[in-house]
Amino acid sequence: MPNIILFGAPGVGKGTYGSILEKDLKFKRVSTGDQIRALLKAPLLSPELEEIKRICQSGGLVSNKMVLDIIIDSVQNAEGYNGVLFDGFPRNLKQLDLFAERFDTEVSFVVNCLLNEDILVEKLAGRRVCNDCGANYNICSINKDGYFMKPLLPKHGQNCDCCGGRLVQREDDQEKTIRHRLDVYKRETEPLLERFEALGIRVMNFEPKRGIDDYPLLYKDLHNDYLKHVQLGEHLKLQASI
Ligand code: ADP
Repeated sequence: MPNIILFGAPGVGKGTYGSILEKDLKFKRVSTGDQIRALLKAPLLSPELEEIKRICQSGGLVSNKMVLDIIIDSVQNAEGYNGVLFDGFPRNLKQLDLFAERFDTEVSFVVNCLLNEDILVEKLAGRRVCNDCGANYNICSINKDGYFMKPLLPKHGQNCDCCGGRLVQREDDQEKTIRHRLDVYKRETEPLLERFEALGIRVMNFEPKRGIDDYPLLYKDLHNDYLKHVQLGEHLKLQASI
């Protein structure tokens, strides 16, 4: 089954683009971050989950075993989709190796989302998420250095467009944790780009300088670069949905 990795630093917009792409591509989106947060919503947390909560709040990476369990479960339940879209996985070299071993397959394509670090920090600090369904919004407005990103606010009132839930700031989006997450990204995750190259996996760069308004470009490039070359169960439109 074709699989695409949405790659890039925290705050670059993987969740936002991923949630539109999954519908346009009819791919199953697997967001390890969303799934971990869902587990942490249980009213009573086991000591293991308490530890996971602490790691997430401090901006570290949770264990490879936990992440692989999530991935295995999601991939096994991807029947009926055109493919799988990974958002937030892999986050280190070991996770990529474990994936290849477990599924006896390679990653088919990587979209590397890029933004400069100052912009990432601003976007992370402005991010708001729905407390119920996890949908992403952003209150910051950026207009500098060639970047023009309008805020991504709910259409009606102050609650989530998808489910009416309350919008909140994630604990790991506080300023001091943001810097740590970016360091972890550089140290643990970024080296994957070299590994993809060494493995001959195609990496397409995408720099969304206009935020969500650049989504149609992403869809078009993805179509030209990858999608038209793979056999998909269901035919895809040439145009993005937004
Ligand atoms: P962001 O979208 O800001 O990059 P995510 O929602 O993807 O953040 O992840 C939130 C947190 O969940 C991470 O900081 C990390 O603690 C944990 N996490 C998510 N995916 C992984 C992964 N593949 N490996 C290890 N930890 C992960």
